[in-house]
Amino acid sequence: MVVATPAFLDERDHLMSIASGLDGVISLGLGDPDHATPVHIVAAAQEALRDGRCDGYTDPAGLPELRRAIAAKLLRDNGIEADPETEITVTTGGQEGLYLLIQCLLDPGDEILVQDPRYSSYDEAIKRAGGVPILLPGREEDGFDLDPALVESKITPRTKAILLITPGNPTAAVLAPERLRAIAALAIRHDLLVIADEIYEKYVYDGAQHLSLASLPGMRGRTITLNGFSKTYAMTGWRLGYVVAPPALTRAIRGLKGMVSVCAPVPSQWAGVAAMAGPQDCVDFFRRSYDERRRALMAALDDCGFTYGYPSGAFYIFANTTTTGLPAFELSRRLLLEGKVLVFPGTAFGENWKHYLRFSLLQPTPVLLEALDRLRRVLGAA
Ligand code: PLP
Repeated sequence: MVVATPAFLDERDHLMSIASGLDGVISLGLGDPDHATPVHIVAAAQEALRDGRCDGYTDPAGLPELRRAIAAKLLRDNGIEADPETEITVTTGGQEGLYLLIQCLLDPGDEILVQDPRYSSYDEAIKRAGGVPILLPGREEDGFDLDPALVESKITPRTKAILLITPGNPTAAVLAPERLRAIAALAIRHDLLVIADEIYEKYVYDGAQHLSLASLPGMRGRTITLNGFSKTYAMTGWRLGYVVAPPALTRAIRGLKGMVSVCAPVPSQWAGVAAMAGPQDCVDFFRRSYDERRRALMAALDDCGFTYGYPSGAFYIFANTTTTGLPAFELSRRLLLEGKVLVFPGTAFGENWKHYLRFSLLQPTPVLLEALDRLRRVLGAA
């Protein structure tokens, strides 16, 4: 079966190809942290390479040391009990984790409820498995939080799971704990699974609280938690993630993982042990930097007359550009050609978001500030 890349991604790809032919572009596009991976994590991989601990395959499930470190972290940070022997699979990035999971979970015709705007990799994974993404449209006025009544209204006999990404990409919304509890109650009542993508869990601001679905009463056996190292530890290039799922599903995921790529890169796995078990002050440092940039970006967007769902988490802002009178794609072309600033149009996150832009905060602060000056100049707000 050939599944074409969704047409709504064409505009993003077009802009990226223009940007690659221009000098001096500042990208506020991709979700790829500018920070360097912390030195103690790099050193752990170097030591493992030097000691000859990376020369062979590991079990498809991942190194036992890493699975144990992940289990300890899940208990410590998330209140989730997970058995490293039977419930945790180390993957080659969260991206592979989500793909393997969806392949193992869905039968043709199964429906998954997904927030919209959305991280569209799930669309492709769901469609390739013969499944159907059912959209849960968010509202800027509601901070792109998720309304449990809307979720319930979309449940059908074919619904298999609810996918929740909090903090969110592209919206930066942190779903309110009381709404998550209400959605968990719905999942129990309708006997549904929940996929909790918690890849941005460490980046929450202004006292917002991240709540892990699998820690709620009655949810452990019906929640699949997806996470990774890319965002928390600035490790996108290391390709390391993990999926926490009930034992039967974990067996299927490990089987497919073994067939696809045998195991996650072994130097990265040793780095992951150091990331989880080592000092966490690097994460606080990253969070403070993103918070500072988030405030600077909000100020620039205010100057330009944009509105946005309040960004309580992650490292993005999803801004409404209606006041410019231009569709977001035209506006992002203009920002690129006149200001040499690359931002993604909302259409990269679903066909309904033609009047939004997603800004990411992943440039060193002085570079981000320069990009914001350019933004103000192009939009006449300087
Ligand atoms: N999930 C979400 C919501 C994301 O935004 C991303 C990356 O941007 C991923 C998963 C996958 O990240 P990685 O494969 O780098 O772990």
